[in-house]
Amino acid sequence: MKVVIVGGGVGGLACAQHLTRRDAAVSVTLVDQRLRHDFAPSFLWQIIGSRTPAQVSRPLSSLGRAGVRLVEAEVTRIDPEVATLSTTGGEIAFDELVLAPGASLAPETIPGLDGAAHGFYTREDAERLRETLAGFRGGRVLVVVAAMPFKCPAAPYEAAFLVDDLLRRRGISARVDVVTAEPQPLPVAGAAIGAQVAAMLERRAIGFSPGRALQSVDADLSEAQFEDGSEPYDLLIAIPPHRAPAFIADSPLGGPQGWIPVDAPTLRAREGVHAIGDVTTITLANSKPLPKAGVFAHGQAEVVADNLAAMAAGRTASARFDGHGACFLETGGGRAGYASGDFYAEPDPTVRMRSPARRWHWGKVIFERRWLARLR
Ligand SMILES: Cc1cc2nc3c(=O)[nH]c(=O)nc-3n(C[C@H](O)[C@H](O)[C@H](O)COP(=O)(O)OP(=O)(O)OC[C@H]3O[C@@H](n4cnc5c(N)ncnc54)[C@H](O)[C@@H]3O)c2cc1C
Repeated sequence: MKVVIVGGGVGGLACAQHLTRRDAAVSVTLVDQRLRHDFAPSFLWQIIGSRTPAQVSRPLSSLGRAGVRLVEAEVTRIDPEVATLSTTGGEIAFDELVLAPGASLAPETIPGLDGAAHGFYTREDAERLRETLAGFRGGRVLVVVAAMPFKCPAAPYEAAFLVDDLLRRRGISARVDVVTAEPQPLPVAGAAIGAQVAAMLERRAIGFSPGRALQSVDADLSEAQFEDGSEPYDLLIAIPPHRAPAFIADSPLGGPQGWIPVDAPTLRAREGVHAIGDVTTITLANSKPLPKAGVFAHGQAEVVADNLAAMAAGRTASARFDGHGACFLETGGGRAGYASGDFYAEPDPTVRMRSPARRWHWGKVIFERRWLARLR
């Protein structure tokens, strides 16, 4: 069986490794436009200077040594009817396709945003933000979540806590404010978790203003503009709108918003095609979408790999993704909170948040080490 995986991020990497470790009767091809894997949770540490760009990134070449055929090319089109991908390196046929191309960042969809704001959602942007913070002399830092959905619901709050901590430790007089399109922090996790995070922000005197989608940015005035008024800034840090990659949105697989609707337990999109991670949309029992997070991409990847291995061996594909997930929330000073739960629970996800403590920070450090060791 010829399995082709698109994307060597969290989902694609985990799926390829799980398949090769299963010793399944499959050939595995992984296509990525850049054969390099960046560990996004560490971008938060990069912006405060506790990781270098090199420390949070690995080439995917070790996958090749494990028997995965690696193709460095951009996928431009999918034709599920004839089981073929078009790429900048030519056409690739598949028996089974696993789509894990993640979400695209689209700052250009908000007038003035591109160029005016710093970001930390790529390794390169995180590095530029680190440099700017190193020379920042004080004033108002505005952390803006431009629109929903976006990946890693905790990341904007981690950025606010870490930047606040960094500037305080440097003795710089600054105020950090979060303005977000979300109705509350981590909305899918329920009102209690949202209130917990809001209280954590308040204790640190970090401003919080929910329910405000970003309309435009005026770099000359240093103002971020919302429907109900504008907010001045000295340093703007934005999480830009996210979009499904164009080759997905333009294909028969993309749903109304471009993301791929999949069967929640099996991640099947259609005959011969599975999709995992940020590119998917899964509606939960409470009508909210499953958050876009690496922990889910990882769990889903292993389910799909198990089922493909079973199919290749002529066995029943019985693995099911159960919607469990967890994430760390760095708060600075070597501490982190930890939220975990069952997101497929009915009628609402059951999520618990542990208060910031050193052990959760170390939990994230160990997780980072283990993840990067996958690509030794
Ligand atoms: C700052 C930050 C912190 C985060 N922290 C956490 C955390 O603590 N916990 C957590 O669970 N999640 C976290 N996340 C979210 C997590 O990184 C993503 O949810 C996860 O990476 C999604 O995995 P994926 O496989 O769907 O996509 P990705 O990991 O984004 O991988 C997609 C891959 O597809 C490739 N690709 C895209 N389009 C094409 C194309 N046309 N042709 C070829 N290749 C293509 C890309 O190059 C990329 O390598 C964080 C994200 C950010 C930005």
